[in-house]
Amino acid sequence: MHKPHVPAEPIIIIGAGHGGVSVAAGLRTQGWEGRILLIDGDSRLPYERPPLSKELLKPGSPEHVTPLRRAGYYEERGIETVLGLDVRQIDVENRSVTLSDGSIRAYYRLVIATGSTARALRIPGGDLPGVQTLKTFDDATRLRGQLTAGARAVIVGAGYIGLEVAAAAAALGCDVTVLEFQDRVMSRVTSEPVSRFFEQHHENHGVRFVFGAAVTAVEGDGRAERVLTADGESYPADVVIAGIGVVPNQQLAEAAGLECNDGILVDEHGRTSHPAVYAAGDVTRFTSPFDGSSLRLECIQNAQAQADSVVHHIMEKPRKDADIPWFWTVQHGVRLQTAGVRHPDDDAIVRGAVEDKKFSVVYLRGGKVSAVDTIDSLKDFMAAKKLIAAGAAVDPVLASVPGTPLAEAAI
Ligand code: ADP
Repeated sequence: MHKPHVPAEPIIIIGAGHGGVSVAAGLRTQGWEGRILLIDGDSRLPYERPPLSKELLKPGSPEHVTPLRRAGYYEERGIETVLGLDVRQIDVENRSVTLSDGSIRAYYRLVIATGSTARALRIPGGDLPGVQTLKTFDDATRLRGQLTAGARAVIVGAGYIGLEVAAAAAALGCDVTVLEFQDRVMSRVTSEPVSRFFEQHHENHGVRFVFGAAVTAVEGDGRAERVLTADGESYPADVVIAGIGVVPNQQLAEAAGLECNDGILVDEHGRTSHPAVYAAGDVTRFTSPFDGSSLRLECIQNAQAQADSVVHHIMEKPRKDADIPWFWTVQHGVRLQTAGVRHPDDDAIVRGAVEDKKFSVVYLRGGKVSAVDTIDSLKDFMAAKKLIAAGAAVDPVLASVPGTPLAEAAI
């Protein structure tokens, strides 16, 4: 196979999260012999994010960061790092970036893996001390200090983050209220049966929900003391956590003239609108290879898969087939595993026993399996992933017969 030349300039990767680190690691694994420079504004060694809203908030868990790769990893593989300096500007014409110390670094190829930022609560008082989001290790440690037994935690948003924090707060002995705009939990990502199951599960652990809640203000004397909603209610709070989604960190790309639309637009190779610039992870928007829909996915699997595509394209190697996206969340010890991307109007087949906390919901679009949600049903998760990848249809009647393996319901 044709071997690319070794350029003098490095491949510069902005952002050392799951996407950026996967690009750096992947380049070396695939045999890239040129320089690699990984830049991140955080001076910590790149770290895992899922534990921040899970293990790190558990009662008695050690307060430590889980590095993505061990300390010596980058040096051993000849991956140069600049940690603690931000990239301020990208110059696509001259193929260079300017750092916050004023230095300019030229690149051969640029990979933007800047991720996303937790959406802030933009209401009066939304910036009072005691109101916070959860995205970084510092956010998690600060939150841990505030979730003390008896503290009143008011969580805005019943998505993955809001619910994981609700579970942790309840386990830590807090009085927990979740205010959600929609009429059920996780409405963006899952169906009614799964929402109702988790709602009940949380309520069994003492979490209170208020649905249809439009938060209008946070009030307090120099610190958050209560959250107000449009219907005139007031919820007393010692700590307020906003889990209301994320916004992609696309400012640098936009300023550089790259095409963006709620995410940096990339193709199946991770290419942006400029041929020498790639992007991977939460910051991107792309067209689903499975159903042609426009997606921005916030999950590790997507960051790694896109990183892999970028590596292969830079190195002029053929790319693997697209992966099925998958996600997981753990709430009060119950793990929800999702594969594929459900659309709100997909049909849903419930399999198994909801009351035994062992069931799955298979989603069908035009008869074909589009996604699955599973609780303690690994076989269905694995089977559904294969069916989604194959674009297979299943017989909905057969699929809902208890005990029938999902694969056997394929038509
Ligand atoms: P995250 O990754 O932060 O969990 P999701 O998008 O999965 O984000 O969930 C965010 C949840 O927050 C959604 O259920 C959405 O309806 C809810 N939400 C967003 N804005 C508000 C708001 N201002 N008040 C109440 N709920 C909100």
